[in-house]
Amino acid sequence: MSEALKQKIQTAFVEPGCATNVAKSESERKKGCAKQLTPGAAAGGCAFDGAMIALQPITDVAHLVHAPLACWGNGWDNRGSASSGSELYRKGFTTDLSELDIVMGNGEKKLFRAIREVIAQESPAAVFVYSTCVTALIGDDIGAVCKAAAERFGRPVIPVNVPGYVGSKNLGNKLGVDALVEHVVGTMEPATVTPLDVNIIGDFNLSGELWQVKPLLDRLGIRILGSISGDARYAQVAMMHRARVTMLVCSHAFMAIARKLEERHGIPWFEGSFYGISDTSAALRTMCRLLVERGAPADLLDRCDALIAEEEARTRAELAPLRPKVEGRRVLLYTGGHKTWSVVSALQELGVEVVGTSMRKATDGDRERVTDIMGTDAHMYENMAPKEMYKMLREARADVLMSGGRSQFVALKARVPWIDVNQEKHEPYAGYVGMVELVRAIDRAVNNPMWADLRSPAPWEMSACDATDEPFVLSAVPGSKADFEDC
Ligand code: SF4
Repeated sequence: MSEALKQKIQTAFVEPGCATNVAKSESERKKGCAKQLTPGAAAGGCAFDGAMIALQPITDVAHLVHAPLACWGNGWDNRGSASSGSELYRKGFTTDLSELDIVMGNGEKKLFRAIREVIAQESPAAVFVYSTCVTALIGDDIGAVCKAAAERFGRPVIPVNVPGYVGSKNLGNKLGVDALVEHVVGTMEPATVTPLDVNIIGDFNLSGELWQVKPLLDRLGIRILGSISGDARYAQVAMMHRARVTMLVCSHAFMAIARKLEERHGIPWFEGSFYGISDTSAALRTMCRLLVERGAPADLLDRCDALIAEEEARTRAELAPLRPKVEGRRVLLYTGGHKTWSVVSALQELGVEVVGTSMRKATDGDRERVTDIMGTDAHMYENMAPKEMYKMLREARADVLMSGGRSQFVALKARVPWIDVNQEKHEPYAGYVGMVELVRAIDRAVNNPMWADLRSPAPWEMSACDATDEPFVLSAVPGSKADFEDC
């Protein structure tokens, strides 16, 4: 690993804005944020994967992966980040390095030709070039190639130096965003600036969630000048330094860019969430207060309060008929990061009981928030093996599982409804509108009559029960063939 990259990784782990890092001893900090892997467990994505997750939703950029074909795979539907314009970000571009290229030392030449080809064919606003394990190990200097190509073709060509072997997906998020700070932010000026310009960092517009919030900002006259990376254009990243306030929506991985914008350009930042009624209102209030402190008209606060009052009243009216259908239902939440607290708080507003929430990828700050919201840490799970999750669902301690796609089959096998709340989901749940959508999704899932049929004994089981006059027990019977044997 090059000295420059080692230095960058070390810097990523001493993020002064991150309370977890600050609280660590120097030796602990050197070990980084990654947790020890469990032998035999999947390790999750590599650093390259993390950088792609962070940057791919910049929509008008060609994301060119300098690697053998397999690193990139199929990126078309990688995540549900929606775009209101260019679809270029969904196309996969790779140099498709072969063994012969590696043996003959053709990597850099091939990369240069690929940059030329993608600019000629797609005319992207910029090309992002990602290094990977193979191209970093053979010593290809993507920085030099990007510089030469940018000069030759008159287009920004940005090196993103994130070979997978340097660490986890989370580290890749940080290194990806670091490339933006180093090469993109501050390179363009907006045609006009207003005192109501904001940056939104960490919202990926999954299934169009940002569009559920943007109309609220539009009504207040607030403009999203900079974005990483929800429905973002390259120019929006390049002009971030001119915004008045930054909102950090998700994860500590992106904290460095918010902090650097504050240090270099005096832009204050705050962390907030658009999940749930009270969190959405709190985020809007904080944003408006900071804007007013930075010179926006003082009536913005009154207009914000009026908008919140109107939206909350409308939302509560829409939720009123739905609330009895979900109230008292028990949810097992298996997600990660900021969603651990933002979804818990959204559910509790509806009278839904959260029987457990996983703390995977959660920081100490996330833990504290969950404890505050739930009043105890008794329902926090670090990691839940599928077998334990199945047991919990099967013993009917939860009515519904809310998680990512990987756990859905555990729920289905336990004959319990499942709701997708992770990045691949197809329903947006942000803002006031999203809250109503979330409740509808829970209602559709838990009150679907199909579950009663599915849980009732099969005819052949019925006859066995009838014959013995024993009450039929649905939950797992030790040794039963219906049990979840292969978890
Ligand atoms: S670990 Fe390396 S080889 Fe594997 S996908 Fe990531 S960058 Fe590619």
